[in-house]
Amino acid sequence: MHTSNALSRIAPSQTAAMTDRATQLREQGIDIISLSVGEPDFATPPHVIAAAKNALDAGETRYTPIGGTSRLKQATALHFARDLGVEVPTSQVTVSAGGKQAIFHALMATVSEGEEVIVPAPWWVSYPEIVRFAGGRVVPLITSAKRNYIFTAAELEAQICPRTQWLLLNSPGNPTGAWYPPEMLHSIGEVLRRHPRVMVLSDDIYAPLNYTGQGHVTLAAECPDLAERILTISGVSKSHAMTGFRIGVAAGPEWLIRSMEKLQSHSSGNPSSISQAAAMAAFEGPQEFLADWRDRFRMRRDMVVSAINAISGLWTPTPQGAFYCMVDAAALMDRFADDTALVLHLLDHGVAVVPASAFGGRDGFRISFAADENKLREALNRITKALS
Ligand code: PLP
Repeated sequence: MHTSNALSRIAPSQTAAMTDRATQLREQGIDIISLSVGEPDFATPPHVIAAAKNALDAGETRYTPIGGTSRLKQATALHFARDLGVEVPTSQVTVSAGGKQAIFHALMATVSEGEEVIVPAPWWVSYPEIVRFAGGRVVPLITSAKRNYIFTAAELEAQICPRTQWLLLNSPGNPTGAWYPPEMLHSIGEVLRRHPRVMVLSDDIYAPLNYTGQGHVTLAAECPDLAERILTISGVSKSHAMTGFRIGVAAGPEWLIRSMEKLQSHSSGNPSSISQAAAMAAFEGPQEFLADWRDRFRMRRDMVVSAINAISGLWTPTPQGAFYCMVDAAALMDRFADDTALVLHLLDHGVAVVPASAFGGRDGFRISFAADENKLREALNRITKALS
């Protein structure tokens, strides 16, 4: 027995590896502050918990339709319209076990051997691995700290060729906090109109976590004439502190939604019935707390940005969304062999972060500011000491 060719093309998640390493050290009694995880530290809202309990008590413990219950599909369509400005009928939405599974199914359902997927780098760790697993070729679109980790329309167009199948667009973005303003989305739309074969996977999982004061903007809403070529991903994991529930949602052209559900029917089947009830409460229940959470994250972001930029050799632009800061440490690379060595040095000083190279970047590291203020302050002190 041996593993498959497809499996040999992918690597395990390095963010998970760093989190595991920090946990191991902590279990040995070493004091480690982990800023490597990608989940909010806030408690899941009580109305969501209550909905999950009620679903159990009401016996909602059986198979549901593959792409989610019709009630959750309605709540999902409401969420897309209200929160993302994307108007879709329920036939154009589907529900998966996390945004990750929706992305996995979309790419597996559409990418064939040798086809290309443009992935802006630094990227979310799973994008390139899923593309490779599907047999596709990852075409990196390199972005830099000095331009806020945003690519230009010209840079995008230069990477498009007849084999291009998808552009993956993640705004607000992990791991950089990059955010594409409406005018950028319009110029991306211009490029796409010239290349009608290219689809866009718009990963909006961090939609409510936008610190620009402008509210969320997304390609399918800004360029509705392209909506048939856009799959928009959203969810409850990051917005509602529901990472463990494993619910993600997608809106897009009907042929693609049906294809994703076809694949899902043979992988996980329906997402958890209990989690579906909880997600419905998340979409239909109160949303006001999101503004408070956003304010807390903004405050933490400001704390991280000013502390990092006060350390000689480190620099970061101000992330416009999500809860990550991609720190440029190029100026320190004469002291460390590479960014992994730098990150291991920080781990020796009690802070776990993830090297930029884990995200297709280089000479830097990602800090997650989804940690409480005291922990963050102490971690930033430790980083300052470690590098002074
Ligand atoms: N997309 C991005 C950019 C993410 O950072 C994550 C989680 O880390 C996901 C998608 C998937 O989230 P989930 O599967 O928990 O819904």
